[in-house]
Amino acid sequence: MVAQTHRMMPPMEYVRLFDEKAGLDGVIAIHSTARGPAAGGCRLWSYPDSEEAMADAFRLAEGMSYKNAMARLPFGGGKAVLRRPAGEFDRRALFEAFGRAVEKLNGRYVTAEDVGTGVSDMECVARQTTHVAGRTALPGLAGGDPSPWTALGVFEAMKEAVAFRFGSSLSGVTVSVLGVGNVGAGLARLLAAEGARLVIADIDPLRCARLAEETGAHIVPIDAVADVEAQVFAPCALGGALDDATVAALRTGVVCGAANNQLASPQVAQALMARGISYAPDYVVNAGGIINVAAEYLSESADQVRARVLEIGPRTREILEAAASDALPPPVVADRMAEGLMKCSEKELA
Ligand code: NAD
Repeated sequence: MVAQTHRMMPPMEYVRLFDEKAGLDGVIAIHSTARGPAAGGCRLWSYPDSEEAMADAFRLAEGMSYKNAMARLPFGGGKAVLRRPAGEFDRRALFEAFGRAVEKLNGRYVTAEDVGTGVSDMECVARQTTHVAGRTALPGLAGGDPSPWTALGVFEAMKEAVAFRFGSSLSGVTVSVLGVGNVGAGLARLLAAEGARLVIADIDPLRCARLAEETGAHIVPIDAVADVEAQVFAPCALGGALDDATVAALRTGVVCGAANNQLASPQVAQALMARGISYAPDYVVNAGGIINVAAEYLSESADQVRARVLEIGPRTREILEAAASDALPPPVVADRMAEGLMKCSEKELA
């Protein structure tokens, strides 16, 4: 089957998943296989109807094509979205049924965990197919928790963005971090070790308190974090942190954080540019996690993951420089670059 989304180039291939006995109701969307198998996690979420689940799958699959291409991974973009059954359900039966659906695609789609799914679910999927990552890490090989890699990628990107915008290192720079979960806290620790000053906010006061004790961070209320006077704002909670009102209130020169889909609408990129704020595009800087997942699938080592994650810094710099010289918002430059990379196979690029 095929469908159309807003940014994408070709119509999208998708497979509807339905197994009443196992509680499976969802979709696998395949946006691009030009660079290799379509890779992207499996989301389990409550959707009011199948149309919303499908729309989310198409949007997310498209996003994965851009992220994977930008990270120079030999993968296209795909995503699975499963509707969470109401009430109690048998997770093992659900994910084994999903695994059978993945297997039927013969490696055109590679899955992993995403919002609402975890390592134990991927172990169930792995009983039915080998086209799965995000499993328990094996000694010497890539795998396991992707968050530290995501944090490292954002940190490397931030170093370059600050050097580009202020001509300085991160030492002595103030960074406000919204959301100090797995990635935000990891990023804050790297920043503290580099001598940056931290301002943090999270809906979880305990997380803030623990991190403040460890790093000396200053805690502020959530609604105050974006207008703190700082050099950098790092959105590391949920998507949509940057809307017109937030951008108008920002008192930073750089925005660089881990959250997916930070811009509430594409026009926000224009508003950031108009205010002279250097925005490091989210999918460029937060690719560390998918780099780790891809390496696990390809049986690569942690050293290979590290080498790819360290490329995120110079890549961010290249995008910010090109955006400045062409007077374009950085996400526009990044999208064009990713679209070019989607047209070349990995062999052509080597
Ligand atoms: P997490 O759940 O560990 O942390 C999210 C944090 O945000 C939590 O501490 C939570 O309390 C806080 N939070 C939630 N809503 C908030 C709000 N409205 N205001 C302030 N704080 C709020 O998640 P994570 O793995 O650290 O991921 C953070 C972001 O980075 C997400 O957007 C995720 O999609 C993105 N991301 C994560 C990875 C990864 O490897 N984990 C990879 C790429 C992108």
